[in-house]
Amino acid sequence: MGKKSKKKDNAQTKQKPVNTGGVASPVLFGIGGHCRPSIAVGRYAMVLNLKSRPELNGDKCIVEKLLKSGRVAVKMCQNEIRKTYSEPEVISVSPLKLEMIWDLPSRSNPNNDEDEICPVCCDTVLITNETCSLFACCGARICNQCFARCCMGPDPDRCPFCRSSTKDTSDEAEIAKIRARANRGDANACYNLGGYYDFGGKFGIQQDQKKAREWYKIATLKGEVRAAQNLGCCHRDGEGGPIDLVEAAKYFRIAAEGGYVPGITNLGIAYLYGHGVKTDFQEAEKWLKLGAKRGDQMAADQLMQFSGLINAQRIHFTPY
Ligand SMILES: [Zn+2]
Ligand SMILES: [Zn+2]
Repeated sequence: MGKKSKKKDNAQTKQKPVNTGGVASPVLFGIGGHCRPSIAVGRYAMVLNLKSRPELNGDKCIVEKLLKSGRVAVKMCQNEIRKTYSEPEVISVSPLKLEMIWDLPSRSNPNNDEDEICPVCCDTVLITNETCSLFACCGARICNQCFARCCMGPDPDRCPFCRSSTKDTSDEAEIAKIRARANRGDANACYNLGGYYDFGGKFGIQQDQKKAREWYKIATLKGEVRAAQNLGCCHRDGEGGPIDLVEAAKYFRIAAEGGYVPGITNLGIAYLYGHGVKTDFQEAEKWLKLGAKRGDQMAADQLMQFSGLINAQRIHFTPY
């Protein structure tokens, strides 16, 4: 802390966890980012500059699927004012026609493209801020219907799932619940706790990047790919400990192999510049192409630079 670290501006940075608790209103959770949000399933976007369907321009949609062709299937959200369509319509658009919306999160688990099951009603719910709430006590994602039913029922101050009291919504109570879950080994809680220490400020937690590393590591061992990506950034940027590019690449690989897009891009970049791994253009191309295909702009930009490097090297090494 206090020590200046050199942040990469040509690689993916950490994702910031947001509030995981609260009951009074549906809470934010999942990943907010302080880098440009990439196109990912479950994320909200605005459709822009569509020539074939100009009436949709400026409308909100949600990313349904990243298509093999490189296009993106999006479900148009109901337009409240114009009500031009009664049924939500799914259309395929070029990623260039989508402006990702910052504040709405993607699904909480980037690994899981499936919908999740509300543990109370067992209905399948799409995991977004608008459709369900995450409870700090047990980490359950409860659909809005069950949440509303609980709020109107005889016992509104209890979690609809684990029944623990939700009366106290102070920072101390919320963080105590998250800590308790982390100590029980809940990967999501470990990752979030790591994030709170990493960035500081939330729930009154002071920034302590050494502790952030510790919690990220525990979460990584439990399969949290977002924690692996952030831990890679810690090692790469020397936050909470010394710079160690070999360790950074190791964690980027864990995130990448787990299918987490920022990790995929960072592993590609590591191979491209030989950061912590032996330079390997084939591997770099493989990972960057995958990142770009999954909608990551940075991977696409790096691929462009990469082709420049390859050409330069070819010219350089052409034997006479
Ligand atoms: Zn439910
Ligand atoms: Zn609960």
